[in-house]
Amino acid sequence: MILMNNFKAEPAEIKEAMVAASRRVIESGWFVLGEEVISFEKKWASACGVSFGIGVGNGMDAIEIALRSLNIGFGDEVITTPMTAFASVLAILRSGATPVLADIDPSSALLSLQSVQRCLSSKTKAIVLVHLYGQVRDMNSWLALCATEKVHLIEDCAQSHLATWDGSVAGSFGTAGAYSFYPTKNLGAIGDGGMLVTNDSQLAEKAQRLRNYGQSARYEHPELGMNSRLDEIQAALLSVRMEWLAEFTNNRRLIADAYRLNINNPIVKLLSAPQQPNAHVHHLFVVSCIHRAKLQKYLSDYGVQSLIHYPIPIHHQQTCLRMNRDPMGLTNSEAHSEDCLSLPCHPFMTVQEIEKVINCINTFKLN
Ligand SMILES: *Cc1c(COP(=O)(O)O)cnc(C)c1O
Repeated sequence: MILMNNFKAEPAEIKEAMVAASRRVIESGWFVLGEEVISFEKKWASACGVSFGIGVGNGMDAIEIALRSLNIGFGDEVITTPMTAFASVLAILRSGATPVLADIDPSSALLSLQSVQRCLSSKTKAIVLVHLYGQVRDMNSWLALCATEKVHLIEDCAQSHLATWDGSVAGSFGTAGAYSFYPTKNLGAIGDGGMLVTNDSQLAEKAQRLRNYGQSARYEHPELGMNSRLDEIQAALLSVRMEWLAEFTNNRRLIADAYRLNINNPIVKLLSAPQQPNAHVHHLFVVSCIHRAKLQKYLSDYGVQSLIHYPIPIHHQQTCLRMNRDPMGLTNSEAHSEDCLSLPCHPFMTVQEIEKVINCINTFKLN
């Protein structure tokens, strides 16, 4: 089976380096919020081109902490997309703010600027821009819109590790960026992890308190925070894995290039190509096909796994049926959820496997 992710195929070298890093932490006797976390925070912030990185428990908490650090909560509205992981919206809800869903642009599946404009109100405090599938795009327009409307831009970078636009890195454009290091992400831990990145020193300080019960000095709690800390083992492992990230991202790009060049079945559509070479880190390679169920079965019969990101747009989730949204509707998101399909695109695919996926897609026909 050609899998969506294949951790067992990782090079022995990386595993050995991870074992050594774990041993270092175990022998240090210090397990939560220590030198390893500080060191990884510095490395990741610097890779993002920002001044501060605050290690947290996961990507969802990074979004919630970013919002809460900006005092966004009850009575405030935050605009985002229904075509995302549930965590993006759950983070907004947990901050106390009201999510407002804008539609996507069908060619990229990213938030549509026009739809976001229709969702703006006097209560709008922020836009959570999800760099879906690993794509960063049109950052100048987003920055211009946020400046004009005086709303914060929060980037959900859970799928876009170190993707760049005009040379700047995902997470460095907005007031804050939220990274996830869930195992299947482009940079993943051996468990949960996340980081908030920002250039705003006040926001960074507040986030540092919020991740640790709202504690300012030991046993002093001027505000009510959460428990969302990155632990030393995960930080040490992430420092190791980060050294392979550029190579892994490059592998993903080669696979995506091969798919783009060679997939030529007229009933399988590709999303629009990245507008700049490094503006996409191919967390997922997504196609669309109106005969998706048949295509998925065909692939599976030939030993190719595929997944759907995402089969249910947020406003069709039982808990979100009445969520505020673009008055013109969310029809592009609904259509995308019905025909999108993610193909294997992990860094350890062999040339034969890539060819097999392409071949499978190209030979698929309706009876
Ligand atoms: C994975 C993901 C998250 C949540 O990250 P966790 O670390 O699992 O909390 C948020 N947004 C998007 C777009 C994601 O893909």
